[in-house]
Amino acid sequence: MSKAHRALMESGRLAYFEGAYIPTEEAKVSVMTHAFNYGTGLFEGIRAYWVKDENQHLIFRLPEHIDRLHRNCSVLFMDIPETPQEMGDICCELVRQSGIHEGIYLRPLVYKSQTSLGPSVQGIESKLCAYCIKLGDYVDIQEGLDVAVSSWRRLADNAIPSRAKSTGSYINSSLAASEAKMSGFDEAIFLREDGTVAEGSAMNIFMVLDGKLITTPPSADILVGITRNSVMELAEKMLGLEVVERPISRTELYVCDELFFCGTGAQVAPVRSVDRREVGGGKPGPITRGLQTLYFDVVMGKVPEYRHWCTEVAPA
Ligand code: PMP
Repeated sequence: MSKAHRALMESGRLAYFEGAYIPTEEAKVSVMTHAFNYGTGLFEGIRAYWVKDENQHLIFRLPEHIDRLHRNCSVLFMDIPETPQEMGDICCELVRQSGIHEGIYLRPLVYKSQTSLGPSVQGIESKLCAYCIKLGDYVDIQEGLDVAVSSWRRLADNAIPSRAKSTGSYINSSLAASEAKMSGFDEAIFLREDGTVAEGSAMNIFMVLDGKLITTPPSADILVGITRNSVMELAEKMLGLEVVERPISRTELYVCDELFFCGTGAQVAPVRSVDRREVGGGKPGPITRGLQTLYFDVVMGKVPEYRHWCTEVAPA
C-alpha cells in the first residue's frame, strides 16, 4: 500500500453494520468487543474495478470470495443470520452507494461481536460488517519489487491457520511486512517452519522455471488465493502453460527465471530481486507480463470467456 493509502483511507459513503446501512464514520464497535480483544474476526478483501466506458464497477470473483468467507466461519464456530447470497448483495449495495467512481476495495468482516471476557471461539455471538474504500495499486506493478525473505516464519496451519484469513493472523503479516520495509525492501517472503517458501505478507507467490509456472501448494500454510486460482486457470487455459503446485525452496527464488506475487491487493506484481539477488535480469519477464496483461483484461471485463468472473454494479 502506498504511503498515501496508508495515511488516508477514503471510504465509501455507507458501511453495513449491525444489520443496517449507515454512514461509514458511524460504524463503531465497543472496546470490549471480543474480536477487538482477541483478533477473532474473519475477513475478505475484494476488488471492484471501475470500467469507465461501461459506467459501472465490475466486482472480481465476488461469489468465490463470499464462499471462502462463509466456509471459514466454521473454523471459528461463527454463525451469522446473513446468507452467502445476502452477503454478496450487501457488497454490491456498498459499491453501488459508495459515491466512488474509481477502483474500490471491499472488506466484509465476520467478527465475534460479544463483549465477553476470555479467549474462546465457541458460544460467542458473531456479526457481519462490511465497508469499502477507494483503492488503486497496492504495490508497484510496473518496475518489479525488491523483496527479502523474512526472519519471521509463516504461521503454521495448526497454530493459527492462514487459510482462515483471520484478523489476528495479520500480526504475522504485519511483522514481516514492516521488517522488510524498515530494511529498505518493498515486500517480504515468508518461509515455513520447515524452511520451504509459503507466500508474501498478503499475496501468493509464483515462479517461472524452465517454462513452467510453479506455486506453493494449499498445504504450505498459505491463504489459498482467489487471484492465485485465477492466474493458474488463465495460465493453463489461455496461455497454454504448465502449472505445478509443489514446495519451493528458498534458493529457487534466487535462480528462477521469473517471480511474481499475486493477490486482490497486489494484483499481478513482478519481483525483480530477492535478498539483493537479481531475478530474471532484474526486470519483469515475458510470462509475468503476459499474465499481468491478461489479468487486467479479465478484471476489466474485456475477455468474453471470463466475463462471468465479473459482477456488474451500476452506481446509484
Ligand atoms: N495470502 C495472504 C496472506 C493474503 O492476505 C492474500 C490477500 N487476500 C492473499 C494471499 C491473496 O489472496 P486473494 O487472491 O484471494 O486476495
